[in-house]
Amino acid sequence: MNTTYKIAVLAGDGIGKEVMPEGLRAVSAAARRFGITLELTEFDWASCDYYAATGGMMPEDWKAQLSGMDAIYFGAVGWPAIVPDHISLWGSLLKFRREFDQYINLRPAQTFEGVRSPLAGRAAGDIDMMIVRENTEGEYSSVGGIMYEGTPHEIVMQQAVFSRRGTERVLKYAFELARTRARKHVTVATKSNGISISMPWWDARAAEVAGTYPDVAWDKQHIDILCARFVLQPQRFDVVVASNLFGDILSDLGPACTGTIGLAPSANLNPERNFPSLFEPVHGSAPDIYGKNIANPVAMIWSGAMMLDFLTKGSGAGRQAHDAIVAAIKSVLASGPHTGDLGGNASTTEMGQAIARLISDAA
Ligand code: ATP
Ligand code: MG
Repeated sequence: MNTTYKIAVLAGDGIGKEVMPEGLRAVSAAARRFGITLELTEFDWASCDYYAATGGMMPEDWKAQLSGMDAIYFGAVGWPAIVPDHISLWGSLLKFRREFDQYINLRPAQTFEGVRSPLAGRAAGDIDMMIVRENTEGEYSSVGGIMYEGTPHEIVMQQAVFSRRGTERVLKYAFELARTRARKHVTVATKSNGISISMPWWDARAAEVAGTYPDVAWDKQHIDILCARFVLQPQRFDVVVASNLFGDILSDLGPACTGTIGLAPSANLNPERNFPSLFEPVHGSAPDIYGKNIANPVAMIWSGAMMLDFLTKGSGAGRQAHDAIVAAIKSVLASGPHTGDLGGNASTTEMGQAIARLISDAA
């Protein structure tokens, strides 16, 4: 079988343009080594430069251009000096998320040797979790409104909307993911002691889905104590699944507990592969450091590893490529060139090259 995987490459704005070449260098090295054929197509849109030139973030036919792709490899979007963030974000990433039904937001959080966790006493290997956030519904609905606006009686309401399908599919994804991991454990974030209608219902869905995975252990924890435990006992978590809002919070908190934002990768998945999934670093375009070639390329590279893993699931080559990239990242973090956010003075390029070299050399 010789599948060619089509990848749309969108570097976007700011340091997205600096870390993307390092992402591609690593991904291409791993693809070569494990015999994965990639067809990369670069696009200059979904960027604020494109907006400045055309008045829109993307061309009219963006969906047609991307629909045949297997994945989107995305740098970062946003340049508030020329385009307000809500326009750049809603005009690109959030469109992909909704129109390509990328209902899983997946973020690993791991501690590494050579990277100091802000949590005192945390060492390499202490934290190794996957945060699964529901990405399309829940608390981030636009259902609601303001009554008696401008009067002393003003009332504002915004509904959380959970569908059975939307809830079951994210829970299922989390349990499937746990099955592939050593500890096989899922923590379900909830707040059923305070939110009295939707969260008990969410708990019931979790119990139902959990019942179909007897080989996966699970528990549920209220979001408040769960946040506290992320800081106090992060080593106890394996897969954590949460609604859109709770997941948003946890998926920033988890990676924050492990070190710099320059390491954190993410995937926005349509697991059924009806649409392309998107892989991007958690960080933004970082205007404050752009243009100096000092951004940490690891988040971009690691996102690329997640992309290869997702693409070839089944054949195993993608998993091997993923593991080789992560091993190279670990090795460079432990004893290799470090960018400034890690306390070193290497450039983006130097750190990226060191990682790519390890990926190729191990062949
Ligand atoms: P977003 O637009 O995603 O909400 P933001 O604009 O608030 O995020 P970022 O662009 O991620 O934030 O930058 C936050 C801070 O982290 C900045 O000071 C930035 O320089 C730093 N930072 C972000 N990414 C990296 C990176 N890859 N390497 C080093 N520093 C980074
Ligand atoms: Mg930003």
